[in-house]
Amino acid sequence: MKVLFLHGWHSVPGGVKPTYLAQHGHEVIVPALDDDDFDAAVLQAQVEFEKHQPRVVVGSSRGGAVAINIASGDTPLVLLCPAWKRWGAARTLKSNSIILHSRKDDVVPFRESEELIEKSGLPAEALIEVGCDHRLADESPLSVMLWACELLGAGERLPWLGDGATRPAKSTRTQNAPSQKDASYVCDACGEEIVIPLDLTEGAHQTYVEDCPVCCRSSTIHVEIDDDGDARVWAEPEQDYE
Ligand SMILES: [Zn+2]
Repeated sequence: MKVLFLHGWHSVPGGVKPTYLAQHGHEVIVPALDDDDFDAAVLQAQVEFEKHQPRVVVGSSRGGAVAINIASGDTPLVLLCPAWKRWGAARTLKSNSIILHSRKDDVVPFRESEELIEKSGLPAEALIEVGCDHRLADESPLSVMLWACELLGAGERLPWLGDGATRPAKSTRTQNAPSQKDASYVCDACGEEIVIPLDLTEGAHQTYVEDCPVCCRSSTIHVEIDDDGDARVWAEPEQDYE
């Protein structure tokens, strides 16, 4: 699927997010947008849009503002913490848009995305709370970005209603490679059940540290896989969370 990726201010075109989409089989067009002149950046994006006719436009931070300021017809938008208040004149989204944003974002306030959703008359579920910072470059936000692109790119809409923001993070973890299956643990800090992919090639006893996709606190994850391939997974809080 062809994706037009509009990067953030002073971001590099070869960044983690477009790379992630490309690694999952998508053709990602990442124009180097003008960092100084917003109107020039919008014009560049418009030219690329018309040239490539992407199935989805992804815009990150300032690139999110670029995305909502180009004429993109019915092409869906996936916006990552869009900086729409700082740049550009557009103040509403089309109906096939999804925003991903972390409440812990200290660059673009989460509230701005809530406001954009309200102004656009979109359901609250079109704003997905995910990640632990502005970058959204960890596995959980990356997988939700991929899920959102593939969902909207296929012409579909949000499959759930009024059921919190953790659902997509879980449902995206189900693409099973032969050596992979899912298991879950309960986060000690927030009590959410977190579904994780198991990598059986990593051995029968695994220990690693992962940030909870819901509350962002770190846990040490223990995985034990028995001879039948059944997994037992549990989490231990890291010492350092407040
Ligand atoms: Zn948690």
